[in-house]
Amino acid sequence: MGNVSSLDSGKVSFLKKFNGMGFRLDEESVSTVGFMNGLRFTISIEGCTYMISTSVRSGGLLPEDEFLKYIVSEVDCIRDAVYQNNRITFIIQKTLLSEKLMNNIVDALREVSELLKKSGFVNVCEICGEPLDSIESYDINGRVFDFCDDCHEACDSYVQARKCLDDSVRENIPKGMIFGFLGGILGAALIVLSVFLGSVSTWLGVALAYCLLLGYATGSGKMSRLGLIYCTVMTAALSYLSCRFAFAIKYFNLVKEYGHHTDLFSVFANMPAIIRNNGMTRDFVEVVLYCCVFGFCLIGGDMLMMVKKRKTKTTDIIIEVPEERHFYTAV
Ligand SMILES: [Zn+2]
Repeated sequence: MGNVSSLDSGKVSFLKKFNGMGFRLDEESVSTVGFMNGLRFTISIEGCTYMISTSVRSGGLLPEDEFLKYIVSEVDCIRDAVYQNNRITFIIQKTLLSEKLMNNIVDALREVSELLKKSGFVNVCEICGEPLDSIESYDINGRVFDFCDDCHEACDSYVQARKCLDDSVRENIPKGMIFGFLGGILGAALIVLSVFLGSVSTWLGVALAYCLLLGYATGSGKMSRLGLIYCTVMTAALSYLSCRFAFAIKYFNLVKEYGHHTDLFSVFANMPAIIRNNGMTRDFVEVVLYCCVFGFCLIGGDMLMMVKKRKTKTTDIIIEVPEERHFYTAV
């Protein structure tokens, strides 16, 4: 508190006017939090843009675009509505007069809350979207978040909060697996080529794992623990299969030189026996492990980063609105 730039001090004194309506000012985030018709709102100023925002769902569902458009068309003093995760932000119509602006915001709060209530919207946690009693507003590095207890526990730094918001982005697992697989094929092709040419290097496994990770993240929309497990399993499977394929090509070319008639497919299918009978087991295992291990290192690094990020904590401030003010209705 008390760290207000000269640019912000005017905004802060403007926001103080909402104290009379039961709002609680937070100077750091240049925001004030309070209730209108039982719904939790944040009034904030970014640059020259004044906005009100609230985290809501109705029957577990987010408002549809059509509904937001309807609100923008119904409420005169609202210029636009956008939402990110569960928070909908309404941009207030600009006006030079502070008195008029104040009225616009109060009108917007009243009309928006009435429209939301009429359609069955209730406050939810900004991250998990659950309508829990434990929801409170927190200023985390200058941005107000509405979190339930559990989500606050998990996301109490700004970076972490942004990450948690990302976490609430739905992960498209099948698409991630398909894209990951396509990426993996590319990495596997590199391994086949290199093993075939007789040059195995550490970067092959890393390249394979990287192609898998990139493919999975691109397809699913984000990287998760499940994605990392999938990539680990695929690194092992594709390392094995690509090495087996490369060894099969080598063997196939060799027997062809001696004039034997065979096809690559049956060589590939019989590879375990061929490897055993030709005393190549050790060679084969070494090459596969060589590819796997460095791929695992890359994925392991990602896993460690994921765990470390979850442990990062910085201080945050709870913006408590007194209980008796939770059902404030403007007159
Ligand atoms: Zn939550």
